[in-house]
Amino acid sequence: MQNADSMDPNAPNLSAKPGIGGLDAGTELAVLREIVRLLPASVTVQNQHGDFLLVNDAAATQFNAPAEDFDSALPQCDFLSQALNHRRHTALDLLQSGRSATFEERVSDGHTKRVFLTSHRPVNIGQQALLLSSASDISRQKAVEDELFRRAYYDELTDLPTRRVIEQHASDIIARDLNGEPFALAFLDIDNFKHINDYYGHPIGDSLLIEFSKRLSLDLRQSDMLSRISGDEFLLLLHPIQNQQEVAEYLDLLLQRLRAPFFIDGSEVFASASIGVSLYPEHGRSYDALRQNADIAMYQVKNETKGAAVFFDASMEREALARMATEQALRLAIIDKRFCCAFQPKVDIRSHEIKGIEALVRLRDDNGVIQAPGTFINLAVELGLIDELTHLVLAEIMKSIDLINETFGAGATISINVAAKQAGNSEFMTTFAKALEDTGCPTRFIVEVTEDAFVAKTHFQDDILPMFRQLGVGVSIDDFGIGYSSLSALADITADEIKIDRSFITDIHKRPRSQGILRAIESLSEALGMTVIAEGVETHEELAYLQGATRIRYAQGYYFSKPIFLEELQPLARPSNEVRNALSTRPMEETRPAYSRAGAGRGY
Ligand code: C2E
Ligand code: MG
Ligand code: MG
Repeated sequence: MQNADSMDPNAPNLSAKPGIGGLDAGTELAVLREIVRLLPASVTVQNQHGDFLLVNDAAATQFNAPAEDFDSALPQCDFLSQALNHRRHTALDLLQSGRSATFEERVSDGHTKRVFLTSHRPVNIGQQALLLSSASDISRQKAVEDELFRRAYYDELTDLPTRRVIEQHASDIIARDLNGEPFALAFLDIDNFKHINDYYGHPIGDSLLIEFSKRLSLDLRQSDMLSRISGDEFLLLLHPIQNQQEVAEYLDLLLQRLRAPFFIDGSEVFASASIGVSLYPEHGRSYDALRQNADIAMYQVKNETKGAAVFFDASMEREALARMATEQALRLAIIDKRFCCAFQPKVDIRSHEIKGIEALVRLRDDNGVIQAPGTFINLAVELGLIDELTHLVLAEIMKSIDLINETFGAGATISINVAAKQAGNSEFMTTFAKALEDTGCPTRFIVEVTEDAFVAKTHFQDDILPMFRQLGVGVSIDDFGIGYSSLSALADITADEIKIDRSFITDIHKRPRSQGILRAIESLSEALGMTVIAEGVETHEELAYLQGATRIRYAQGYYFSKPIFLEELQPLARPSNEVRNALSTRPMEETRPAYSRAGAGRGY
């Protein structure tokens, strides 16, 4: 056995070609030996017994042993002697078959693992059958490949298999299945995860996802699979199953387990999941059909109970089709700009003046029927159409600005609603601020946002609010009291106006508890310099209570006027300047009929 330095003169003559630059044979051989020794690739030559005739420096490094030790019983280290033994067997095999081959070779010294790409070529030189092997270290490339593989098939955060893996797994089961052996595909979505993320911040949201996936994985069988398919969505494949009852019981237990609090970073976080389930083969014979039907069932849970598991049934499919039709109609309505605004005044209940108006969007459907925003706003948010819709609303307002001025006075503020999701979106809010500036009267506008937007850890409070403030656009907290914030959170919010939700105002004169809450909101808002508006005043008693027992100055509600379409006001019925002045000087009860007449009793 020899290394490249002490090569046997009988060993293969590596310099088959004549002379390098006129060197004599001896010098030339020495040069070639030196080249082989120093090659960055590991090079070995073995004879028909597997003995190493030549080992260059890189090969010695590869196996972490001096060349002399390659044939001895040595390498102390088990891993290395295994690798060398493997080389010996490979040599015997390949020399016997006369085949060339390329393998990946893994070498470990117990600490680090390296991967080599090794090519073996049997040759006959002189009388000898020899195996020439050369190897390059591809550890780095391999690590990158492994990482890419891991990323493609395993979720980085939870380490769960990705969508592709579960899809393949389900498709494989279906392809193998001859007897219709049932399995269940459950689609899980964490309820209100966005709120949790907004409220606690993303690091806690991430930790929750990890803990959540651990609880979901707890007693899964080898043949089941859990996958995180996106943000807060998981797919669970239960295979095999006996019947629907068994799956229902299992999922009930799972839901119970999820309901226990999660302790993350000193916070006690409560979470639940909604689950839609489809069964193979009953609800579909392909992964796509099962996935879609589980999705449909999940949608049903989200809209009804949340935190429950529901199995797919055919009636849901009909509903899903109807929903798709609504979606389609909404998209078309946006393209056709079939939106209009109804306006509702905000009234000063002390001086009886109209302080401003709120623009409330309406959709004219295919049959010309007017639809209230409750039927389409959430869908527009879900479908990503809300930004366009808000710009359309602003355009509608500007189209009617003369009529607005004529009806309510040029000093009336104009409130426009913005969904909480938009409020945290700097890109939209910047464009919207620009559009308000372009109206030439930004100071007349008030943007109404629900309290969730303020509490959420988004850019709204820090980046977006100052932008509006600079333009002189007002900011109002809409529907205060029903969202996620608390009175203490109010202290951190910097808005100009706060609108107390209708649920507190209804029958306020009969409800001491709501009265207490109202007083607390009122004094805090006063201290913070925010104007308070009572929403949804419908009766004289409610108004009388607000006037008599509180210092609240402004209100909005059917008592004064339902939202009205300006163009439908008959010119004669429209409040003239005189009437408008009268509106602001007469006591409310008297003004109401005058104003109601202007609205011709039609509310939208
Ligand atoms: P909101 O901003 O809180 O508007 C007040 C809602 O309460 C309006 O319903 C109004 O018609 C109704 N309302 C006013 N006074 C009374 C009352 O005395 N009694 C009762 N029962 N209801 C009253 P509407 O127009 O159906 O709007 C519902 C919600 O849709 C709005 O609540 C707002 O959050 C949203 N919305 C309306 N227009 C837009 C818009 O352009 N963009 C966005 N993002 N949301 C909008
Ligand atoms: Mg509003
Ligand atoms: Mg409101």
